[in-house]
Amino acid sequence: MIAHYELRCSSCNAPAQRHDLPCTTCGELLEFALQSDPPDADAARAYAATVARRRANDTPLDRSGIWRWRELLPQIPHASVVTLAEGNVPLYDMPELAEREGISALAFLHLGMNPTGSFKDLGMTVAISAARAEGATRAICASTGNTASSMAAYAARAGMEAFALVPRGKISGAKLAQMRDYGVRVVEVEGSFDDALAELTSRSSEGTAVVNSINPYRLEGQKCTAFAILEARSWRVPDWVVVPGGNLGNSSAIGKGFREARALGLIDRLPRLAVVQAEGAAPFVELYRSGRDLVPVVPRTIASAIAVGSPRSWRKARAELDASRGSAVAVSDDEIDAAKGRIGAAGIGCEPASAATLAGIARLRAEGTLTERDDVVAVLTGHVLKDSDASLRVADRRDVGA
Ligand SMILES: *Cc1c(COP(=O)(O)O)cnc(C)c1O
Ligand SMILES: [Zn+2]
Repeated sequence: MIAHYELRCSSCNAPAQRHDLPCTTCGELLEFALQSDPPDADAARAYAATVARRRANDTPLDRSGIWRWRELLPQIPHASVVTLAEGNVPLYDMPELAEREGISALAFLHLGMNPTGSFKDLGMTVAISAARAEGATRAICASTGNTASSMAAYAARAGMEAFALVPRGKISGAKLAQMRDYGVRVVEVEGSFDDALAELTSRSSEGTAVVNSINPYRLEGQKCTAFAILEARSWRVPDWVVVPGGNLGNSSAIGKGFREARALGLIDRLPRLAVVQAEGAAPFVELYRSGRDLVPVVPRTIASAIAVGSPRSWRKARAELDASRGSAVAVSDDEIDAAKGRIGAAGIGCEPASAATLAGIARLRAEGTLTERDDVVAVLTGHVLKDSDASLRVADRRDVGA
């Protein structure tokens, strides 16, 4: 199975001049475009078996759920790779919740079970490794908490300085504490995540790697979520994969992962991709359902990890939903809290943004997009300990039976 990647514009397809800037022709985001032979199921099966065997080895690359797939990632010298054994996460079968929602099967891929407690680690290992290979000495990002925590950990492992721009008063105490534990320098910005991201563009400089999801290396790591879902199901394709959407890098990456799995012959059809946003931060749901372009909003939701009003990857995410006959749906903060309560009561737990998936499944079932025959995987993006205020609020409401 032969695959290699060319860094190109995701919109106009122009070859990229530099990986750390948007397309110089049209200003859109870059991507690593797969160049491969036609699908070859036998070669793909043999490759999947090789990757599965690597689990048993004791080298850091083989112990990583990302670098096990290194033939499908941008080529980075192994000596530069910075890994924390990310990507080895459980897929939990949830038959009672499936029955309650009236669907045939439901499983949670819990990406909160990563080294820093969110899926950001899957992309950060690739972005920081690439930065180190190029001799960067500093990393910077705008963040609602999880990107900065992940960056801080990987940068510390790489011996790089790390700077986080966070919206003042809009991130959880646990996330702020975690990123500081790893030694990050925190800069508080007035406004929302979108203001922090705008501020970041003005601060980047030579020798500093920007590790937000506009960095195409991030998405290459995160696309391995698709491989993890398929591998954990013995390559049986689910009907739907449900993902919470903020800046929409992750939805884009997961869609790309499934498309590449099909292009290589690992699977022969795509699961449908559903993006769930919070009602107070749902510009993507609005544009996807109306067929118009992005209209930014001022984000307002308790699910801080998806409180993004002007998602940078909306075009990529729209393309993935189009390719997979997907859907987008918005849920209220009350629905998110109720879903978080059910996920906790099932012994799993997650942060509010992740619980939006289960709330979204209920909405999609009610409107008939999901049916009783559907086999659904939801991606839980962050750990329960990421937002203890939310846990106390939900538990208090459950205890009084509200
Ligand atoms: C970052 C994050 C999201 C949103 O991912 P995007 O790629 O910005 O759409 C959702 N949930 C959690 C827990 C996150 O940390
Ligand atoms: Zn372009």
